[in-house]
Amino acid sequence: MIVCEACGTENPPDRKYCTKCARKLDPETQRAVALQRSEHTAMSINWSAIITALVVLLIVLAVLFLLVTHVL
Ligand SMILES: [Zn+2]
Repeated sequence: MIVCEACGTENPPDRKYCTKCARKLDPETQRAVALQRSEHTAMSINWSAIITALVVLLIVLAVLFLLVTHVL
């Protein structure tokens, strides 16, 4: 998948020119863009995992608190 740096259209990997705006697709630039994207995706996944873990922890603590206050 090659993303056009001009219009953002995703093109098949074997394309030399963008299917939408016909701009020349540069493999070197595409590699850098792909690398940046994968790093960004990794960061997002880490953050959502941390936030999910915190939310689950809060829910568990809330349930435990409710159980304790009901028992006592
Ligand atoms: Zn384009």
